Amino acid sequence: MARKVALDTGLHFPYVGNVPGHEGENTYCPHCKNIVIRRAGFSILENHLKDGKCTDCDQPIPGIWV
Ligand SMILES: [Zn+2]
Repeated sequence: MARKVALDTGLHFPYVGNVPGHEGENTYCPHCKNIVIRRAGFSILENHLKDGKCTDCDQPIPGIWV
């Protein structure tokens, strides 16, 4: 049920936590394409987000809270 809801609401990677190393674990800046959040499971290995913006180009990245 939860999985169907996730698909219906447009989540792109409903299985992301189960695929270590998959690029879907990471979050990329839509503007400069640099990685903003690099994850491994529930751990954050790199954080290039500051005040909700990419630290490289100040592009706001919606929907990410760390
Ligand atoms: Zn950027």
